[in-house]
Amino acid sequence: MKPRSLRLVLGDQCSLSLSALEDLDPKRDVVLMMEVQAECTYVRHHPQKIVLVLSAMRHFAEALRSRGVSVDYVRLDDPENTHSFAGEIARAIGRHAPEQVIATQPNEWRVLKEIEGAGVDCREDTRFLAEISFFRRWAQGKKQLRMEYFYREMRRATGLLMEGEQPVGGEWNYDANNRKSLPRGLIPPPPPQFPPDAITREVMDLVASRFGNHFGRLEGFNWPVTAAEAQGALSRFIAERLPLFGDYQDAMAEGEPTLFHGLISTSLNCGLLLPRDVCDAVQAAYRAGLVPLNAAEGFIRQVLGWREYVRGLYWLKMPGYKALNALDAHRPLPEFYWTAQSGMRCMDAAIGQTRDLAYAHHIQRLMVTGNFALLAGIDPDAVNDWYLSVYADAYEWVELPNTHGMAIHADGGIMASKPYAASGAYINRMSNHCAKCNFDVKRATGEGACPFNFLYWDFIARHAGRFANNPRMAMPLGTLRKMAPDRVAEMRAEATKFLDEVSPLP
Ligand code: FAD
Ligand code: SF4
Repeated sequence: MKPRSLRLVLGDQCSLSLSALEDLDPKRDVVLMMEVQAECTYVRHHPQKIVLVLSAMRHFAEALRSRGVSVDYVRLDDPENTHSFAGEIARAIGRHAPEQVIATQPNEWRVLKEIEGAGVDCREDTRFLAEISFFRRWAQGKKQLRMEYFYREMRRATGLLMEGEQPVGGEWNYDANNRKSLPRGLIPPPPPQFPPDAITREVMDLVASRFGNHFGRLEGFNWPVTAAEAQGALSRFIAERLPLFGDYQDAMAEGEPTLFHGLISTSLNCGLLLPRDVCDAVQAAYRAGLVPLNAAEGFIRQVLGWREYVRGLYWLKMPGYKALNALDAHRPLPEFYWTAQSGMRCMDAAIGQTRDLAYAHHIQRLMVTGNFALLAGIDPDAVNDWYLSVYADAYEWVELPNTHGMAIHADGGIMASKPYAASGAYINRMSNHCAKCNFDVKRATGEGACPFNFLYWDFIARHAGRFANNPRMAMPLGTLRKMAPDRVAEMRAEATKFLDEVSPLP
């Protein structure tokens, strides 16, 4: 009997509650899953990201089969594989002659266009907490799309951390309590281990043979690849690291790549965890008195606020968003983003752990590697490609707004009311890197001056006209005006000399 419908499950859709699987009749419908080369190479993804997605897909196919679902699974090493979604959907239609092909809307513009062109009916991705239409309605007519106000709407809409109409504790946001640096002697509990099973080991061999020349270490792969593992990781996080998550959310420390962070974006983004379940579990821990409010609220804000907000913004502004270059940035990405050998201790720590773990936490991405790219004026396409290729949790819908909008201000302020630009003083306050660095964080000129210092003032001076009417930039612009012109000129000359060495203009 020919199948009534073919149900597509893409690599980041490994969720049993996927809308494409609703009303699936195991006797008549067939699930199609495809491993295609194009998705591993459209940017050169970190080998751990490729292993994660392929292994999660293979485990998910097993989970479906164990429920009696028939799965047509195209493997990467299938000699007939055309290595594109469009090609594989066409081949599967040829094999099954289904009445209909059904998918859940892909989370990336590029993939949506490809799938739509292949004659697929797309359903809403109901795993997110805000429908795209909800975000559009919220955004309509607003001059500024500030996350904080969207987040409050989401708190009201979901009832998370609410007492009636009021936020629990009386405040919407406890961020002011969440900016501590790590005290000496406080050692974060190590994250759980997920030793690769036979399926993952097979995928690791495949990835090593095909993508071994991509940036990043494959050995040490330790990401959850099933819903059960992801749930285990979440439970351990809530019990062991969440209580101090809020306090040290912005901290950075030598030899502590993960601190009190959740390490759950990889699982959320490929469907092994659902954001509502994560928020409910965190809220339950708070209500049971197991975690303080600043930790629970800080964490829920990331998932319910930021994650949903960047997704809404992505679909509201694409495809034009990606082409914006508001700060007219054109320098190439310095080589040290691939080697971790800049001599800047904070940069090399963030890049080195990115190479080894396919992970860096938010402040490293924003205030170290992102801040450097912003100050240096690196071309947005180069910066976006780097972030999209080096992290295990990277998918364009979440990477692009965070990089293009939040980190390098290439969207001209759609996302953030001012650039997240900072000098070495910020990094020194939030980390212990500077004490062991070759550069001197207290110096802005001369031998050994910290590059973040002269680059910061060069950035402020370079864009002084552009930000003259931005009240949130009044303080740095005021300080710049009070500086002796010779000193500003000296810092700017140092910046040009430094940038011409590490990132000469084309
Ligand atoms: P935690 O610190 O424990 O936070 C909990 C969860 O909140 C995360 O798992 C994530 O799902 C969510 N979250 C937190 N901040 C954000 C945010 N700004 N946007 C969306 N979700 C958020 N996140 C990605 O998932 N994929 C990306 O490709 C990505 N690229 C980024 C690029 C830049 C330049 C920046 C500044 C941030 C980027 N982020 C990205 C956001 C954030 O850095 C990661 O979600 C976070 O570091 C993941 O680690 P974690 O699970 O330990 O997070
Ligand atoms: Fe980074 Fe400057 Fe501190 Fe070195 S001195 S770790 S370059 S901020």
